[in-house]
Amino acid sequence: MNKVLKFFLDNKEKRETIVNKDIRVYGWEFEYDYHMTGSLTKYLFEDFEVIENIAPITNDNRDGRVKPNYYITVHDTGDTRDYHNAGFWSNVVKVQEWEQGHYSASFQYVTGNDGIFHNIPDNEIGYHAGDSTYYDYTLYDTLVTGTNNNPKVTISEDGYYEVDGKKSVLLAPRVHREKNGEVVLDRLPKTSDINDQGVLCKLIDGKYFIGETYYSPGYGLISNRGGNNNSIGIESCINLGSDIYLTWQKTAKLVAHLLKENFLEMSDIKQHHYFSGKNCPQTMRMNGLWEHFLSLVSFERRILDFLDEGYIIKLECDDPNVDSLGRIKKLTDKTIKYKIITIYNGEKEELELEL
Ligand SMILES: [Zn+2]
Repeated sequence: MNKVLKFFLDNKEKRETIVNKDIRVYGWEFEYDYHMTGSLTKYLFEDFEVIENIAPITNDNRDGRVKPNYYITVHDTGDTRDYHNAGFWSNVVKVQEWEQGHYSASFQYVTGNDGIFHNIPDNEIGYHAGDSTYYDYTLYDTLVTGTNNNPKVTISEDGYYEVDGKKSVLLAPRVHREKNGEVVLDRLPKTSDINDQGVLCKLIDGKYFIGETYYSPGYGLISNRGGNNNSIGIESCINLGSDIYLTWQKTAKLVAHLLKENFLEMSDIKQHHYFSGKNCPQTMRMNGLWEHFLSLVSFERRILDFLDEGYIIKLECDDPNVDSLGRIKKLTDKTIKYKIITIYNGEKEELELEL
């Protein structure tokens, strides 16, 4: 068996763990209940296609400044109205006009059942992360040494960052809020003030470096800079009547391509929350499906390497409850039989699987 088929076999979806549950979809206008069912595989059997719809450079939401990318930022629109799909949002960014008047935000991509739309060039600043455009991705030496690639950052009693419990020389931002020019909150920061995705901390040559951080008064959490300036922002639609899991798979495919093109790693994928403390992407966060989304990206990323090596990968499934992309329309008690077919250098191999 070739490595592609082995990968599908080793990572096949199982009845016990496949997503098949009622979730709540959150929107600023209204919420709704939705039954989410996963796909036959974590790879979406669809060609990667981007619809170019770049905003004019004269738009005030098109910054135009070019910056390096260190992150991919994932959002959801928080907009549940049925006709607010990806095409709708892409045009809003382009024409800067919608029901609520002038639209001044912008993001590189928006995904939905209707496709993946590209609005702002990947290497330009977008206005989506809420962390301003005054600060670039920067690393500061903590003077703490170690070997942990996944260190935990906390804050000491006197307000300094600690890495794996070791006090650094870097002060964490003060918890400070003003209202109508008056200070209404001002105190030393605590570990519990850090957003739930943490603070950027990189191990480089045995030394820990911490990123540029700030206290976000709007959401009351210590957050990271570099969202607007140094990340590719992706909005994902959650509109009523759409197949949200399909949108997430399309998003995962897009993220996988962007990781590869920008030489980024899985740990560089961040929620909007990381940059401002906002509860976004809210539907993934509130339903505990962020890690699942990352598993979709990781699967797509691996398959992308196989495709680039020259493998052609196809799905064959006659089950009436499964479509050509591998989306399960309805999961019944009946076993679903399917085949993964690969063609490489003209040689065809296949693997029979069931769910
Ligand atoms: Zn967001």
